[in-house]
Amino acid sequence: MKKRYAMAVDTRRCVGCSACVIACKTENRLPHGGFRDWIVQETSGRFPGLSMEIRSERCNHCSDAPCVSACPTGASHLAEGGVVLVNRAKCTGCKACIASCAYGARYVHPDGYVDKCTFCLHRVQQGKRPACVETCPTRSLTFGDLADPGSAVVQLIHSRRNKVLKPETGNRPNVFFLA
Ligand code: SF4
Ligand code: SF4
Ligand code: SF4
Repeated sequence: MKKRYAMAVDTRRCVGCSACVIACKTENRLPHGGFRDWIVQETSGRFPGLSMEIRSERCNHCSDAPCVSACPTGASHLAEGGVVLVNRAKCTGCKACIASCAYGARYVHPDGYVDKCTFCLHRVQQGKRPACVETCPTRSLTFGDLADPGSAVVQLIHSRRNKVLKPETGNRPNVFFLA
C-alpha cells in the first residue's frame, strides 16, 4: 500500500522546551530567523478552570495541499509518502504558496526560495526518525506511516482523543494533536 507519512504530537507530554525547534535548525541548517517548527501555548477555559495546551507545530503535509496547487512553477510538489516539498531550483520566491497556507508553515529563505518542514525525508529515507522526533526529551512526537495499521502513529491516533488544526480549511492535515 502507498505510504502516507504523518506525525502525532502529544500535547500532554510537551513541556515547550523548544528542543525540537533547535534540532530542526541544526539538522536542516536553517538561516537566522528561519523556522520549520515552532511552539504554541494556548490557554482555554475560564478561571479557575483554565487549562493550557502546548503544541509543537510544523507543516501539516496536507493531503489536499493548497500550496501545491497555488505554486505556478511546480516548485511545491508532493513527494514520497505524501510529503510536501519545495524544489529550490524551481522556486521564484513569488510567495503564492505562503498566501495559500492557513498554518503559517512557510517562510522565505534569505537565498530567495520558500522553505518549510520536509518531515526530514532525507533522514526517513535512511531509516532514521525526523530530527525533532529523535531529539524530543519527553517523547511527545511520533512519526510514521498512516497506511500501516501497526505503526505507532496509527495506534496513538486510534487510542487517544485527537484533532488536526483548522479542519475547516478542508486541507486534510496529517499532523495530529493528541489531547
Ligand atoms: Fe501546504 Fe501549509 Fe498544508 Fe504545509 S500546512 S501542506 S505548507 S498548506
Ligand atoms: Fe512556488 Fe516558490 Fe512561488 Fe511558493 S514561492 S508558490 S514554492 S514558486
Ligand atoms: Fe524540522 Fe524535520 Fe521536524 Fe520538519 S520533521 S520540523 S524539517 S526536524
